[in-house]
Amino acid sequence: MLHHIVLIITPALVSGCTLQEKEVKTTVSKSNTTVIPDSIYERPEIVTSGTEAKQLLVDGNKRFMEAKQANIDMGSTKREALLKGQKPFAAIISCSDSRVPPELIFDQGLGDLFIIRNAGNIIDAVSLGSVEYAVEHLKTSLIVVLGHQSCGAVTATVEGGEAPGSISAIVKKITPSVEKAKQAGDVSKEGLIEQSIRENVKATITEIKMSPIVKHALKNGELTILGAEYHLNSGEVKWLNAE
Ligand SMILES: [Zn+2]
Repeated sequence: MLHHIVLIITPALVSGCTLQEKEVKTTVSKSNTTVIPDSIYERPEIVTSGTEAKQLLVDGNKRFMEAKQANIDMGSTKREALLKGQKPFAAIISCSDSRVPPELIFDQGLGDLFIIRNAGNIIDAVSLGSVEYAVEHLKTSLIVVLGHQSCGAVTATVEGGEAPGSISAIVKKITPSVEKAKQAGDVSKEGLIEQSIRENVKATITEIKMSPIVKHALKNGELTILGAEYHLNSGEVKWLNAE
């Protein structure tokens, strides 16, 4: 009864208690949070060399692997700034696989990456046109062809059998890479899939290099093309040796 009366006649005290409780809760919440970024990450606005562009991807992938993502601005100010145009520092040809989203695995934001995706990261007229647009109009200095561990498109091609509908077009495109991988001599199915994934990346690079627009940019030293493979379990992007 007495307690009840105190609560009613001393609203300031009640208010004070509530504030104290809030402060305690905030402290607990902070101590439980693993990442509290204190500043907005900004990548260099102008990236003119393939080496610099690759380093941004390497750094971003490291952040992703360690779950220490940068505090990237995705807000209205950033969107407004991008209205004047885009200047992506890299073009990426990657698989449609939902486990391999380039912006996430490279920890990049709006306007950073120009991405072409299809099942099997292959090149056809439309995807090559997209690459050429990135090179010719956006002046992108780096192209990355990104294969990945356990690629379903490559696995289906290795396993053979009849692919229904237009999936057959994908299998047909990847088949020469599987045939090439077989020549490497690894007889296990798993080994053959792994080798085929790398051969498929190389085949895509070879096709990109046949474009006159790409050839011109390479000749002028304005463009770098790299192959890479994403590993689902570790989250690491491993860079393949250039030939
Ligand atoms: Zn895939």
